[in-house]
Order: sequence, then C-alpha cells, then structure tokens
Amino acid sequence: MIHHDILIVGSGVMGVALADSLNPKDFSIGIVESNSHASFSKRHLSINKKSLSFLKKLGVWEEISPNAFPYEKIKVWEQEGSGYIEFDANEARLNPLGHIVSEGNIQKNLLESLEKKEISFYWDNKLEEINRNDEKITCKTSNNELSCNILIGCDGINSAVRGLGKFKSRSWSYNQTALVANLKSSSTDSTIRQTFTKIGPLALLPINDSELTMIWSIDDKSAYIFLQKEKKEFIAEINNHFGETFNDLVFSTEIQHFPLNHLSAKTFAKNGIFLIGDAAHQIHPLAGLGLNAGLGDVKCLSEAINEFGKLELKKITEVYNRKRIPVNLALAASMEAFKRGFEAENIWIRFLRNSAFNITNNSDFLKKKFMEIATEL
Ligand SMILES: Cc1cc2nc3c(=O)[nH]c(=O)nc-3n(C[C@H](O)[C@H](O)[C@H](O)COP(=O)(O)OP(=O)(O)OC[C@H]3O[C@@H](n4cnc5c(N)ncnc54)[C@H](O)[C@@H]3O)c2cc1C
Repeated sequence: MIHHDILIVGSGVMGVALADSLNPKDFSIGIVESNSHASFSKRHLSINKKSLSFLKKLGVWEEISPNAFPYEKIKVWEQEGSGYIEFDANEARLNPLGHIVSEGNIQKNLLESLEKKEISFYWDNKLEEINRNDEKITCKTSNNELSCNILIGCDGINSAVRGLGKFKSRSWSYNQTALVANLKSSSTDSTIRQTFTKIGPLALLPINDSELTMIWSIDDKSAYIFLQKEKKEFIAEINNHFGETFNDLVFSTEIQHFPLNHLSAKTFAKNGIFLIGDAAHQIHPLAGLGLNAGLGDVKCLSEAINEFGKLELKKITEVYNRKRIPVNLALAASMEAFKRGFEAENIWIRFLRNSAFNITNNSDFLKKKFMEIATEL
C-alpha cells in the first residue's frame, strides 16, 4: 500500500490549487482523480481581488492574465419592478472590481506548475472506501489502495469524501438549471449585467472585447424548453429580457447546462479529513462567488498545514473550522436572502425589495459593505 502524508481527492481547481500551495519539501502529496486524464472546465467566471492575489502568490497569474478580462461595473436590475443597483470601480476605489477568467485556464496553469513538483497523480482512481485507525486513513479506489495522515476532499458537490467520511450536511435543489454559453457581440464593454427575469436570473459577463458569457439560471421546466430552442429563437429571448442591450449576438460555443443545488456541510473538518470548495459548500451562481469561496478555503487550510505540520491535526482542524465555517455560512445566508427576496411574488415583499435595492444603490456605505463581502471572502 502506498502511503502519502496528504492525499487530495479531486483535480478540479481546488484540488490542484491546494497541491500547489502545500510545501512539497515537507510533505509527500498524492492526488486521486476519477477521470482518466485532466478534464478542463469550459466555464468562464468572475474572480475577486483576494483570489487574484492568491493566484499571483502561487505564481500562475502571469500566464492567466493575458486572457483575463477586467470589469469595472456591475449592474443588477429586475424586469418587473423598479429595483436597480450599480457597483462602480471608481466609486468603490477598487479598479477593476474583478476579472472574468476561464476556469479551465486556471486549472491548466495550476496543473502545469505541479509538473515541476514531486506530486503523485492517481488518474482513473475513483475513491470508493475510507477506513480509519489511530495511525492513518486508508482509502480504496477503483484501482488502488492508498493510505495517508490527512485526507482532503476537493471532489465537488457529490463528494465521496464527505459521504464516506460521514459528514452531515444540509442540501436542496434550487429546481433551476444554469444554461451557460459564450456569445459574440459587436458592442461589449467592461460591465457585468444581471437581470432577474420571471424564469430566473440572467447574467451576461464580458470575457474579451467582442465576447460575453451567458449564465441564465432557469426554472427546470422552462430550461428544458429553452434547450430545445433554435439558436436564433434563443437569442431573441435574451434580447427580449435584456432590452436589446447588445448588437448582433451570435453563439460562439454550445450551450452547457448545470443543475443548481445548495449544500452546506455542518462541519468542514474532523478525524483527519477535510472538505474544500464545492465538497463543503455550494451556493447559487448568481453572485459568482463559489470558486472565490473555495480558494479562500484552500488558502486557509494550506497555511494551517504548512505552519503546524502533519502531526498537529487537532490544531489544523480547529483553525480551519473556526475560520471557514462562519464565512461560508454568512455567504450562503446572504445569497439565500437575495435569491428568495427576488423570487417572492408577494406585493409587500416586492415593495420592500425594490425599496431596499434603491436605498442600497443610494448608500455608499451599504454598497461598500457589499463590495467588501464580495472581494474579501
Ligand atoms: C453555472 C455556474 C457558474 C459559476 N460561476 C462562478 C463565478 O462566476 N465565480 C465563482 O467564484 N464561482 C462560480 N461558480 C462556482 C465554481 O465553478 C465552483 O465553485 C468550482 O468549480 C468548484 O470547484 P471544485 O474543485 O470544488 O469542484 P469540481 O470542479 O467539481 O472538481 C471536483 C473533482 O473531483 C473529481 N471527483 C469527484 N468524485 C470523485 C471520486 N469519488 N474520486 C476521485 N475523484 C473524484 C471530479 O472528477 C473533479 O475533477 C459557478 C458555478 C456554476 C455551476
């Protein structure tokens, strides 16, 4: 049986970022991945200032930045009321507000940087069983038996580490599917726009001078109907909901679809087993913060492990739970309030919502607070 000090399950952004941020001279590190080779996400997403600094520290930002698009404004409004809110980089004294990047590109660059380090990869190894005794944790995968002192689940929303490690969690389906695709347009700018349509939030994020990425989180029933639509018909729907903000929209990629769920593990670490990123928490993509929150977990856990070493499990567990559970709980709660407030049909809730939005839009203090939460996860 091969032994590693640290075994990471999952080679998504969290798994490779974590391996990159641990000190390879101090630990023997293995990565277990069920896919037979690296598979890169095709999504574009927004990253905040803190994630950018972390990627810089890991030495990969220079390679990512030529294809990262800085954005300076966020405009959010609703279709059926007067609610409107705008965040401006100059007002927030934070220019740019963030960057839109390809998730796959982050993953690819982190993986390339791992090639220079001594990390063992176990591709085509699906984690199937975990056993623990006083000294170590043993893991059965579809092709191997491995053991470790620290086991870290970076294995996404359906985390086997979370299930086999018997972590309790709360989860539910949003009954929405995110339809994601890129579109060409002759009139893009550096603003993220999001409108709350009757069937769900529709966001258009600029990814370069002539392209946008669409994330439309649509009620499951309507999403199925939308997926059957001709491309021209689909674009007419986008224009209808957006008020024809963009000229000449044409799809430049196929439409991908993702079921949307909420998940919060009750604890993120116990008995030498840790959960990171979507394995520990998943939120609605309307605020574009899931990956940022996950990178916050990676930074916190890697700093604790690098500082205390593999034998101080109690201390690492305490620090990680204490620092990351409250941040992620607060984020999940504010996202839920935001989403439920927008979906409410009740006229009083709608009135309050519009008023709250407009008060926030006119209050520099509240806007600054929002920006702090979004940029300092
Ligand atoms: C539509 C959409 C838009 C989003 N937009 C944004 C945004 O703008 N900004 C933002 O910050 N976040 C955004 N997010 C969230 C972000 O994409 C996720 O938080 C992030 O991808 C999670 O990465 P991860 O590494 O935790 O999990 P994953 O990417 O799911 O990686 C998990 C890995 O584990 C492997 N694995 C799974 N099970 C096993 C097993 N049993 N054994 C071995 N390996 C296994 C998988 O094959 C995979 O490689 C968005 C999400 C969605 C759905």
